[in-house]
Amino acid sequence: MSAGTWMAYGEVPTRRDRNVLENFIRPVPRTRRRPQRKASSRSCFMTESASKKGRHGTVGPRAEKIVWARAAGRCQICNDSLIGHLISGSRTANKGYIAHIIGSSEDGPRGNADQSKALAKDPDNVMLLCDGCHRVIDRDERDKHSEPVLRRMKAAHEAWIARSVGLRPASQSHILRFTNQIAANETAIPVDMCIAAMQAIGRTPASFDPIDLKLGITGQQDDGELFWAVEPDDLVRFFQERIKGRINSGQYRHISVFGFAPMPLLMKLGQLLPDIHDVEIFTRHREPEPSWTWREGASEMDSRLIEGTPGGKMVAIKLSITDRISDDRVTSAIPDAPLSIWEITCASPRHDALRTREDMSQFREVVRSAFNRVKEVHGEDTQVFVFPAAPAACCIEFGRCWQPKTHRPMEIFDQVQDRGFVRRLRIE
Ligand SMILES: [Zn+2]
Ligand SMILES: [Zn+2]
Repeated sequence: MSAGTWMAYGEVPTRRDRNVLENFIRPVPRTRRRPQRKASSRSCFMTESASKKGRHGTVGPRAEKIVWARAAGRCQICNDSLIGHLISGSRTANKGYIAHIIGSSEDGPRGNADQSKALAKDPDNVMLLCDGCHRVIDRDERDKHSEPVLRRMKAAHEAWIARSVGLRPASQSHILRFTNQIAANETAIPVDMCIAAMQAIGRTPASFDPIDLKLGITGQQDDGELFWAVEPDDLVRFFQERIKGRINSGQYRHISVFGFAPMPLLMKLGQLLPDIHDVEIFTRHREPEPSWTWREGASEMDSRLIEGTPGGKMVAIKLSITDRISDDRVTSAIPDAPLSIWEITCASPRHDALRTREDMSQFREVVRSAFNRVKEVHGEDTQVFVFPAAPAACCIEFGRCWQPKTHRPMEIFDQVQDRGFVRRLRIE
């Protein structure tokens, strides 16, 4: 089990939940009923007798307080809350178990002659667990829960608690990474960078496991025809299966998007992300060192719309943010057509033009007004062609601003080395 999978336990009723339920339904014979105990976590109930070792077993009150605090009163494997019991209505029931990683006796779970005694009261050697998880690690699946496995689980849970409690729960957001696995080295987006970028704007990850949308099942580079025949549909299918239902059910209340992929596909992803839903789109910054954290300071991008000549039913929209796009590159992609060429650009197109969150929201406003103006000037039945040279985040945002009921379908082009702009996909 990896450190990232413990959240999954919370999604289905655990065996403990069922046991608790059964015990409440089934009358317990009086002779087998346990004596009432004060609220305190029982110490390693499988291996140690609380009556012999006292209320705190071999751990001691000091270590126990530290362990409870670091775990925020939750099981460090399944994350269930350990105070209160819904079925009986008790708000103060204590369901916590203090469990040793290296057992406190050398013949206990993971115990050994060298360490058992020395680490018995060490908070770093003790986990807070629920009954079910404690049984699993000490008895039912003891072999799978070696010392390093448990240490990773404990560290991951404590790190997550530390990050989470400083922020409101509503700040939680799911990480969505969209990458092309063919060019894995260039496009890898480390989770640590995602988390740092989210924290900088007051968000905290809802899970350590990002939602990963990966291109490249065709095994082709993105200049291959097969790639473009398969990947766009694949992206749509994956999104519908893995993400859409969870957005609709409220499981994903907020999504933080980190994308690094060919521009037409980024626009397609933007189209799939609902415009009304809470989404934050991040961009990769190259300087001074690679990072996804929005830059501080004044907004200098200054996005603007340059309208094309009125009349005609064929509109090209140039997205000149990272680079200027000359008109002849557009007209050579659609020769002999009466094009009206519009342009969304910024004060000085370059690779790091998009730097701040303010840049992003201003860009969004310009894209919205561009779509509306094209419709006003050219009418309903216009053909729209898009030529992007823009950061990934701008491409996603561009697709997001497009509304199926309001706007005309768009043909998206992409720059291919030695071939100029090539039509890649349709947004409709
Ligand atoms: Zn648990
Ligand atoms: Zn123990």
